[in-house]
Parts: sequence; structure tokens; C-alpha cells
Amino acid sequence: MSTILITGGTGYLGAWVAKDLLEKGYTLRLALRYKSKTAKYDHLQKIADQSKGSLELWEADLLEQNSYHQAAEGANAIIHMASPFTLRFDNAEKELIQPALEGTRNVLTAANASSTVKKVVLTSSVAAIYGDNIDQKEQGLDVLDENHFNETSSVDHQPYSYSKVLAEKEAWKMAEAQNQWKLVVINPSFVIGPSLSKHSNSESLAFMQDMLSGKYRMGAPDLMFGYVDVRDVAKAHLLALERADAQGRHLLAERTASVLDLVELLKEKYGNQYKLPLMKAPKWLLL
Ligand code: NDP
Repeated sequence: MSTILITGGTGYLGAWVAKDLLEKGYTLRLALRYKSKTAKYDHLQKIADQSKGSLELWEADLLEQNSYHQAAEGANAIIHMASPFTLRFDNAEKELIQPALEGTRNVLTAANASSTVKKVVLTSSVAAIYGDNIDQKEQGLDVLDENHFNETSSVDHQPYSYSKVLAEKEAWKMAEAQNQWKLVVINPSFVIGPSLSKHSNSESLAFMQDMLSGKYRMGAPDLMFGYVDVRDVAKAHLLALERADAQGRHLLAERTASVLDLVELLKEKYGNQYKLPLMKAPKWLLL
């Protein structure tokens, strides 16, 4: 495998995957919405200039049918990461669900149409595995693993999570209907760590900024998440791509921690440099 098509490479997570691929010498076909928006990929061009690999730019949009066909022809594999990760939207159906679901259909239809694609690595999420406590309680489960699908999210309740469920299920359906390419799915928990991109709308970056900027100074949300470092998530994508025995779904979480556990870690490293949360916020404040 030498030529890889990546969607979402302009994003927070995608930049680290693109960096690893370029440094390993791959020819990287970066599918992006607008070549004219150079700030979205300048950082990747700089990495490419200093790497063994090379960067090609291919314009494509998740919402446009046949948009990925040309870029897929000649690619040996596709890493499909593009999908809006935002909790700030006006219309969940249009802004989250359609790009996730139709985008997955479009990208995988391009894989089917190509004569070259042998593997697809899909970035799903832990949100496709697990919805909320009710989900877990109703299924009588203490532990969730790759055998589970989130059954409680909907367009009105956790629509981002729902978009990931629909997209991943569609990917498995399309994978099972053909035998040219193999599907490997990565299900990261909440991703944190340094950003190479200055122009991402990822909720990961919004959360880290809110933590440091003082937004939660008088009370941090009393929530537990699984966390994973963005560089480890990138490594997982490379392993999924390169290992012939990679198959199925892969939940990624280094640990589960409360927001205040995270604050303690930040305090150890940065002392009083940032306006970190001082206490837990009462639950009613978050409703
Ligand atoms: P970003 O917002 O940084 O990346 C989203 C990417 O999707 C960007 O490259 C964006 O392109 C692209 N995109 C969005 N809409 C379209 C569209 N209509 N057509 C083409 N491309 C589009 O988010 P992250 O890097 O955090 O997330 C990347 C993936 O990882 C997503 O699939 C997300 O669900 C998944 N994920 C993220 C987690 C996290 O904690 N961050 C956890 C688990 C999964 P553009 O640059 O043009 O906006």
C-alpha cells in the first residue's frame, strides 16, 4: 500500500494521522472542501515538505454525490475520518446527521467504484458504542465493549452520537455487501492533546480551551469521560491500515476520569498558569 486517500485530514485528529502517514513515506491524497482555504492545510504541506511522503490535494464534499470517485481511483486504502464533531448546531439533521451518513455512503461508494481500494479505516466513536447511563442500565451492563451499539441516541437526544451510530452501521452494511475492501473501525473516546491545526471546529479543542480560559472557573461539569491522546489515536489508525490481521471495531481509551481529575493533572504540570476550575458545578447548572 502506498497511496492513501484521507477524508477529514484538515481536522484536529486528521492532522496527526496525515503527519504519521507522510513521515512514513506514503503518498497522501488529502480530500478537502476548498483548495483555496490554504490555512486549512498549510501545516500539512510544511510536514510533507520535510517528509519522505508527498501530499496531493483533491477537492470533495461529504454532501456531494460522486465527489470522492476520482480521488479513490488509484488509492490503495481510504481513511474516512470526516464528520462534523460539534455540539453547537441549529439543525441536527442537516449539520450532523446528513454529512455523517451521506458522507459515509459517498466515500464507500467511491471505494466500491475504484479498482484499487483494498481497505477502509473508518473513524467512528465510543459514542457509537454507548449512549448514556439509561442505555447501559436498560441493557443491564456494567462494562461496555466493541460488541455494543448505542441504542438510545436519536436526532433529538444526543444527535452527534446518533450521527456516529448511523454512519458506522451504514459502513458495516456496505462492507458486508462487497468483497473488494476490508473495513476496520476505530472508536475513540474523548480525544485530547496538542493540535497541529489552528482551524478546526472539533469539540475537543473547544473543551480544552474552555478548561484553560476560565470558563469553568466557578464550577467544572461533574462528568466522567474516557480519554485518549490524539497521537495514540493516530497510531491506532496506522495500525488499522497497515496490519493485515486488523479487523472489526477498536475502542480507544487510556483512562476514565472526571473533569476534576483532569484539573489535578493540569495543576501538577502548569501550576497556576491557567484559570482552571476551582470546584464541581452543581448538576442543575448544566441542564
Ligand atoms: P474536526 O472538526 O477537527 O474534523 C472534522 C473534519 O471533517 C474536518 O476535516 C472537516 O473539514 C471535515 N468535514 C466536515 N464536514 C465536511 C463536509 N461536508 N465535507 C467534507 N469534509 C467535511 O474534528 P475531529 O478531528 O475531532 O474529529 C474527526 C473525526 O473523529 C470525526 O469523525 C469525529 O466524529 C471522530 N471522533 C472524534 C473524537 C474527539 O474527541 N475529537 C472522539 C471520537 C471520534 P473542514 O476542515 O473543511 O471543516
